Amino acid sequence: MPSYHLVSRKYRKEDTVIRLATTEVGGGSTVIIAGPCAVEDRELMLQLAPLLKNMGVDVLRGGAFKPRTSPYSFQGLGEEGLQILNEAGRAAGLPVVTELMDARDLDIVYRYTDIIQIGSRNMQNFTLLREVGQTDKPVLLKRGLSATIEEWLLAAEYILAEGNQQVILCERGIRTFETYTRNTLDIGALAAAKHLSHLPVIADPSHATGRRELVAPAAKAAVAAGADGLIIEVHPKPKEAKSDGSQSLLPEELAVLIKEVKALASNIKK
Ligand code: PEP
Ligand code: MN
Repeated sequence: MPSYHLVSRKYRKEDTVIRLATTEVGGGSTVIIAGPCAVEDRELMLQLAPLLKNMGVDVLRGGAFKPRTSPYSFQGLGEEGLQILNEAGRAAGLPVVTELMDARDLDIVYRYTDIIQIGSRNMQNFTLLREVGQTDKPVLLKRGLSATIEEWLLAAEYILAEGNQQVILCERGIRTFETYTRNTLDIGALAAAKHLSHLPVIADPSHATGRRELVAPAAKAAVAAGADGLIIEVHPKPKEAKSDGSQSLLPEELAVLIKEVKALASNIKK
């Protein structure tokens, strides 16, 4: 059975480096993507973005279309959220990443973002993968909640097969029997993806753990295992966050973590 091909190290030996205006992913440094789970409020984003830039964040995140388990939970601000994210990113000199949930929103998401995120729940939405594969924007592809490593790489293959070679893989924890943590960070899968593929691989310690106090240790473990970067949720008032407050770091906690991660990364040979 033909499996993944274009994403494999056999096809391409050198690491793929994804270049953005102010940073790159996969080029040896540890890229830090951070921001709130969802774009909630213009003032909050405009204040937070320069703070993040100053502490060494490379890319601003924020969801405008949120894949919530309950239809009654906050679903995101939609196009207004995209505009706010874009405005905050531009003002602070940060590229931005946001999730695309539906191919019908591709045009507006494309217009406002620098990286298109495909969330876990859509990892095997093959129509959506094909659509982003036909664009020229980098794609951040989260591993599905219960996806095997091969299924994850084959999802990336869909995007590459359409012509878009700029895919960043993201290990964000998988469903296991454990319930204390929101998911289980699969460090082995992160290392395997680095070994099997030339694509950059980052980790999401926020969704992987679901608990603020576990985000830093999980982030450090991922970097020690060779991650090319991290995507971390941060909120100035986590208790008031409209989504994922319990796993969101305070800005000052993120600043400490970034220093620790950079120190750690400088001692890891990639
Ligand atoms: C997110 O990044 O906000 C998100 C919904 O992530 P995931 O798709 O990994 O659950
Ligand atoms: Mn979230």
